[in-house]
Amino acid sequence: MLTEERRQHILAQIQAAGKVQAAHLAAHFGVSRMTIHRDLAYLHARGWARKVFGGAVAMETESVEPAAGAPAGGCAMCGARLRQRTAFVLQCADGARLHACCPHCGLMLLAGRGDVVSALAADFLHGRMINVRDAAFLVGPELSLCCAPTILCFASRAEGERFRQGFGGDLLDHLQAQASLQQSMALHP
Ligand SMILES: [Zn+2]
Ligand SMILES: [Zn+2]
Repeated sequence: MLTEERRQHILAQIQAAGKVQAAHLAAHFGVSRMTIHRDLAYLHARGWARKVFGGAVAMETESVEPAAGAPAGGCAMCGARLRQRTAFVLQCADGARLHACCPHCGLMLLAGRGDVVSALAADFLHGRMINVRDAAFLVGPELSLCCAPTILCFASRAEGERFRQGFGGDLLDHLQAQASLQQSMALHP
């Protein structure tokens, strides 16, 4: 496995589980602890994870728990479990609040409803809920977290761009991301 690939897998694990242990990773990937420490230092230096004794943790979430008060039914689009790290919430004119598992489903929901008053999505790195209109979306990075193709939300375009350099994909605004998503869903329904 290439170094880049291993780092992508490690970051995906950190974002999914909240933390990782260097010893487990070394055993899992069949590499030395030193190699894992270099991987974690790489993620740390870019602000994508925080290195701690014996491993690494996800960057602190700055805000509200968007999953709090969320319906037990899961994602309004696909039914998947709601995750704080990829939260996406639509407020509709009729008072309905729709929660999506990730920006992939959130943007699909948004495209399908004409009565959305506000749309908020969690910044992938910091967890802060931001207005979808101000967000940058990374479409199709090599990171499997929730729905495919993966779409990640960033409050800062610069952070999204740095992430793109490590993980690939296209950095788009929400309308472009919606269009790209609809196109890829039409090709691979
Ligand atoms: Zn979903
Ligand atoms: Zn999803």
